[in-house]
Amino acid sequence: MKTEYAVAAAAGVVARQRLVVIGNGMAGMRTVEELLKIAPELYEITVFGAEPHGNYNRILLSPVLAGEKSMDDIIINTREWYAANGITLHAGDAVVEIDRARRIVRSEKGVEARYDRLLIATGSNPFVIPVPGSNLPGVIAFRDIQDVESMLNAARDHRHAVIIGGGLLGLEAANGLQRQGMSVTVVHASDSLMDRQLDASASALLKRSLEAKGLRFAMAAQTTEIVGDDRVRAVRFADGTQIDADLVVMTAGVRPNIALAKAAGLYCERAIVVDDTLQTFDPRVYAVGECVQHRSATFGLVAPIWDQARVAGAHLAGAGHRRYVQRATATKLKVTGVDLYSAGDFVGGDDSEDLVLRDPRRGVYKRVVLQAGRVIGAVLYGDVKDGAWYFDLIQSRTDVSHLRGRLLFGKTLCEAGA
Ligand SMILES: Cc1cc2nc3c(=O)[nH]c(=O)nc-3n(C[C@H](O)[C@H](O)[C@H](O)COP(=O)(O)OP(=O)(O)OC[C@H]3O[C@@H](n4cnc5c(N)ncnc54)[C@H](O)[C@@H]3O)c2cc1C
Repeated sequence: MKTEYAVAAAAGVVARQRLVVIGNGMAGMRTVEELLKIAPELYEITVFGAEPHGNYNRILLSPVLAGEKSMDDIIINTREWYAANGITLHAGDAVVEIDRARRIVRSEKGVEARYDRLLIATGSNPFVIPVPGSNLPGVIAFRDIQDVESMLNAARDHRHAVIIGGGLLGLEAANGLQRQGMSVTVVHASDSLMDRQLDASASALLKRSLEAKGLRFAMAAQTTEIVGDDRVRAVRFADGTQIDADLVVMTAGVRPNIALAKAAGLYCERAIVVDDTLQTFDPRVYAVGECVQHRSATFGLVAPIWDQARVAGAHLAGAGHRRYVQRATATKLKVTGVDLYSAGDFVGGDDSEDLVLRDPRRGVYKRVVLQAGRVIGAVLYGDVKDGAWYFDLIQSRTDVSHLRGRLLFGKTLCEAGA
């Protein structure tokens, strides 16, 4: 659907509006793609990206680190794509100021770009735990291509890697570095790995299978210092013990990257506050991705970000009837040979019940959480083929009361008996 304005702009009857995008990452460029589908001629688009590349699939940095994919495999949009769509790309040039009164952004290299609409998609910054030594050479995060290159270089010259944070990102970093030949220890502050996605039983199974692959774990460990002179040498804990390290990867969470928006006076809480149309408190400025806060939630997975991009793209196109609605999310761990799936609310509450299947010999564990006859969460380990089905049941809020006895045995058995 094209608006009258878009038709007129395409015909050259009116000057195109200017859209400036800050952040050449997954959320920003997906929003531009959605916009181009609806109104390819509406804007003159300028994109600023702090990273010196085209747009790439950040999720696939894990398989690149593990040696399963190359950098070329993960490029989403080449520079030719930007040119073909008439988009001016300033890659490797971060925006340093937004002047909302004059509707101009300014970049590090001194480029100024005027906007009619601005889209902020600056993502997150890795959280570096503030302990002495955290700025030593050899201490890095896991967020972008440069981090992966640093890890691959370290794996060539060094032996001992320590990953601080046993969540999804930390375990994928650990697996990748081990596949690159390093001896890897994962340090985790609680006693359960991936505790935001898994219950204690699934977490214990995961730990056992990662140990069988050769990873080591320091659980319930409080890092107090990163030791070294001109490079990291060890990681020290609150109990006084320490382990050797010549590479430390911090994967202890992220913080929405909102400094620029804040400095421009846009209303922020934990992140840039947006409404259901992804508009900030300034009607000319939209924001999407990990830098936003919608109804008190912030985001760390791409599924909700794709939904945001569809809504923001439509509103930027002037065809804004869509509203962003938060939905349940699902997670998988990208470690070859480890099958786990987690979706929705796997913790439950007083008014929910758990259905659990354990088959230790096959290494299978399944837990489905029900509330008022509906599936609200699922954790699967070892046999994940029904993950998408449980996820559909969560999303569709299907009444599964009649399937209760068979639910854990999966879709095929449930449908056969229906
Ligand atoms: C290794 C890894 C594995 C992951 N695996 C999964 C997974 O399996 N499933 C899943 O759903 N999610 C996964 N994620 C999370 C997912 O990648 C993010 O949720 C997603 O990339 C967020 O998109 P975004 O555009 O908000 O941020 P980003 O993709 O980080 O993009 C933000 C961009 O803005 C740029 N920028 C910041 N400030 C400025 C500035 N001032 N000027 C110009 N540019 C700026 C940054 O350099 C960056 O390129 C993973 C993330 C990582 C790091």
